[in-house]
Amino acid sequence: MSQCNEPTKPDLTKPVDNAPILSCHHAGLTVEGYSRAAVQTYWRIPELKIGFDLGAQPWDFMGTPTWLMSHTHLDHVAALPVYVARRRMMRMEPPTLYLPAECVEDVRRLLLIMQRLDRGRMVCQLNGLRPGDEVNLSRENAITTFATTHTIPSLGYVVWDRRNKLKEEYLGLPGNQIRDLRLSGVPVTREVRMPLVAYTGDSSPAGLDAYPPVFEAKILITELSFIRPNHRREKIHKFGHMHLDDLVERAGRFKNELIICAHFSTRYHPQEVRRILDSKLPPGLRERVKLWI
Ligand SMILES: [Zn+2]
Ligand SMILES: [Zn+2]
Repeated sequence: MSQCNEPTKPDLTKPVDNAPILSCHHAGLTVEGYSRAAVQTYWRIPELKIGFDLGAQPWDFMGTPTWLMSHTHLDHVAALPVYVARRRMMRMEPPTLYLPAECVEDVRRLLLIMQRLDRGRMVCQLNGLRPGDEVNLSRENAITTFATTHTIPSLGYVVWDRRNKLKEEYLGLPGNQIRDLRLSGVPVTREVRMPLVAYTGDSSPAGLDAYPPVFEAKILITELSFIRPNHRREKIHKFGHMHLDDLVERAGRFKNELIICAHFSTRYHPQEVRRILDSKLPPGLRERVKLWI
């Protein structure tokens, strides 16, 4: 189970503290980040050496070499050139960035313009992705993309744990026979996958509904921009966002061990978020939800 009831602030003795970070540890993974709608969103999972979105770049996040962008709204990408430039300034390897394919050329142009204005080379690897694409992260981990439903091209991401397991039919065989089979070219193993982390970026519920691994990942990081009862849901969905009622309606579908709800609208005070979610989330779901605020 998680090692925190609510996400915690890490120690404040670091030399540069330029952006807020909350942190939570679960199932061998640490989720660090911050997300408020129209302000800034950034997440990272140090154990996987990846981050999602760069609405700002906390100085401490510099060492993370691979970032996946959900979409190009400013609160999710404003610090992309900042991060690329800082990596070079600190003599680190050029980072690898993934983003929706439709945006790659414009982001390349943006980096060139910043290169002219800042007089520093912007060195990075930009990769475009489409829904259904797969990225090999390591031998144990792969990332798949899914279409989210927002107002501009947008993607969600699922990180998978993958293991090679011996096929059923060979389970009883002694080791040397399995080895001989393998050496003779017989595929004795099959890949078994388990969704570890799902990240939705900004999306109306339709984006989550269309990709079942979102509900099965051990850790789900989702936006929950709106929570007040009087908000009109059709309007919220039209603008590509989630309302608390969407979460409550799907309570039975979430198999996740940990559900991080973030990207709350700036109109809400943290106390209001806690109060409304405490009263609306049904038991069984409330214990698994972390309010990232
Ligand atoms: Zn946003
Ligand atoms: Zn957005």
